[in-house]
Amino acid sequence: MPVPLRQHLDYLPPVGCDKLPEPGTRIRAPLGSRVLTGVVTGIAQSGSFAPDKLKAVEAILDDTPLIDSRVMELLCWTADYYQHPPGETLMLGLAPRERRGQDPAKCGEAGFRLTTRGEGLSQDSLRRSPRQKALVAALRDGPRTRSALLNAGFQPDNLRRLKAGDLIEPVVIVEEQNWESREPLEPNAEQAAAIAAVTGMLGCFSCHLLEGVTGGGKTEIYLQAIAAVLRKQQQALVLVPEIGLTPQLLQRFEQRFQAPVVALHSGLGDAERDRNWHAARLGKAAIIVGTRSAVFAPLHAPGLIVVDEEHDTSLSQQDGLRYSARDVAVKRAQLTDCPILLGSATPSLESMANARSQRYHWHQLTRRATGASPPKKHVIDIRGLELRAGLSSTLEESTATALSQGEQVLLFLNRRGFAPALLCHDCGWVGECRHCDARETLHRKPPRLHCHHCGYQEPLPNSCPDCGGKRLVTSGLGTEQTEQALRNKYPDTPIHRVDSDNMSGRHAMASFADSVASGGPCIMLGTQLLAKGHHFPRVTRVGVLDADAMLFSPDFRGEERLAQLLTQVGGRAGRAERPGEVLIQTRHPDHPIIEAVLETDWSTLAAGLLEARRLQGLPPHGALAALRCDSPDPNAGLAFLQALAGQSEPVASGHGVRLVGPLAAPMARRAGLYRCHLIATGPSRVAIQSTMRALVEAATAQRPPRGLRWFVDIDPTEPL
Ligand code: ADP
Ligand code: ZN
Ligand code: ZN
Repeated sequence: MPVPLRQHLDYLPPVGCDKLPEPGTRIRAPLGSRVLTGVVTGIAQSGSFAPDKLKAVEAILDDTPLIDSRVMELLCWTADYYQHPPGETLMLGLAPRERRGQDPAKCGEAGFRLTTRGEGLSQDSLRRSPRQKALVAALRDGPRTRSALLNAGFQPDNLRRLKAGDLIEPVVIVEEQNWESREPLEPNAEQAAAIAAVTGMLGCFSCHLLEGVTGGGKTEIYLQAIAAVLRKQQQALVLVPEIGLTPQLLQRFEQRFQAPVVALHSGLGDAERDRNWHAARLGKAAIIVGTRSAVFAPLHAPGLIVVDEEHDTSLSQQDGLRYSARDVAVKRAQLTDCPILLGSATPSLESMANARSQRYHWHQLTRRATGASPPKKHVIDIRGLELRAGLSSTLEESTATALSQGEQVLLFLNRRGFAPALLCHDCGWVGECRHCDARETLHRKPPRLHCHHCGYQEPLPNSCPDCGGKRLVTSGLGTEQTEQALRNKYPDTPIHRVDSDNMSGRHAMASFADSVASGGPCIMLGTQLLAKGHHFPRVTRVGVLDADAMLFSPDFRGEERLAQLLTQVGGRAGRAERPGEVLIQTRHPDHPIIEAVLETDWSTLAAGLLEARRLQGLPPHGALAALRCDSPDPNAGLAFLQALAGQSEPVASGHGVRLVGPLAAPMARRAGLYRCHLIATGPSRVAIQSTMRALVEAATAQRPPRGLRWFVDIDPTEPL
């Protein structure tokens, strides 16, 4: 049931029920004073309560399970691994209207065909089941849709039994029978090797890490691997970190294939999401491109899973059920017996470790597919230099040269707004959010102070709230201010600011990328939105205005993230014919990460970071989890976690797990809540699992103080 209970609930079958529902079927049943839509997880002959204490299900909502057995297994694994209430987790296997108990949206058709085994069946077999035999005969002429078979008088049960006996299998059926890709590019040797490896292993589980420089032709590999899957009349599920990346990828798939492609992400309205979800279930959709929650989408005939930009933290959900869609996708491929392809120019250290230990097949694309040379990278030591609009004279000259040659320039500044702080010149007051331990950012259009952590906004003060002084000054640069300065400096050049304040809506980013791809010289100034997967063929210069803002992060993943960001941003330079140049402004030119980004490739850099993690005993060496707590009371969370730590200590040490904390979170107060956590580090995921289970048990047994909420974070991505 869709409630935060950490258990499955027992119900009696509805009165007069003659056929028990299978797992994955929805039911409507009372819980407390409400009637809710839940999902059957199993049928039992007995339970922990006497039958006369149990309530009966009111209605069974589906004839056949809406969630198939493999996705049920995946969802149960997810609930168990991430230690989240199973009922809430199961809801991820349903489209919005299905969760409300309505019928699935209307659309398309599922089909079936004979397996090799079914084709080889002799005339005498299945003599005891004439209907099944007739069904096999009907399919000898080729695949048929489910409804055609039902109209011909066959029963769902006939289909199910033949499928269980591996005599028939589900396939995708669309009117258009020509699945062939239209114009595959001639793959280079590295691409060909990756394509051959993946397509050579269709039909069984294998995990492939595709580590390819930006512009290395990863997408072309996805396309050709998908083509092989479509030829088998199976489906491909493609996961991307951001909604903004889906339209671009959808477009590339639609141009290449004459096959139905659907999107699944939160930017869609419920109705479209419902339809696409059900189309995936029926096999009406051949390629499903979605963001993280699409990892649970129903698939009629799954053949391949692709995770693009696998390092991106947007693939991890940070509230409610905290899961990594990449990791769940790997589990799904394993349960589904299909290959999975993880692609990135800067794969996560987790995946690099798996590739190095040969748990994953490792494919590298070391050169740009178009033959473009890799960008040249330089560091600009800005110590003591005068900056104008955040640009040193070297960066200014480089920008001017590029513009005069008709090229485009990308400037990266990872801070939106006008200025990251407002100060009083007289007394030193700093504008802080009243709900968070954070400074407010000054925005000019319209003039307000914004908190980027909780969304709180307030008008600008006319004078200092502390001393009444009138001399309020800003400190630091944001994209709004830099944009203004650039406009003054380059009045004749189009300046595009790209940050989440002016790129909202699901198509904004894609249509922007399209428009500059065909446009003349310009300057793009933006945040990490610019670093993600977009192709800007005319950009030749990339300038990083302030690498230092990201240098000294307290998070143990800080260096990995900085290196990824710098490499990804740099990779936007010179993707087409003209060579690219990357200029990184810093006051720490000798910092090992900055040096590594300049001098080595990702594998070498990752090897160094992995060694450091090994020495520190941090993931991917060993495992990590956190029990997090929020409370309106500054001390309640710490006390709550302290008690749990005491109770669970014996279990933890029995598994070789160390409990650290409780500690205040790096931003101890956010949106009015005090946040703290207890960290568990240990030699293996199994050890961490057992420890976290003990902690969760102890937490569930307690009555938490008012307003306190706790949650489990396994393999956390949020800073600790
Ligand atoms: P990535 O996804 O790794 O950034 P893409 O697949 O988008 O790279 O490829 C980058 C560019 O190289 C695209 O313009 C693409 O059309 C081109 N490309 C990819 N593979 C080849 C190939 N084998 N031959 C020629 N051009 C290619
Ligand atoms: Zn003051
Ligand atoms: Zn705030």
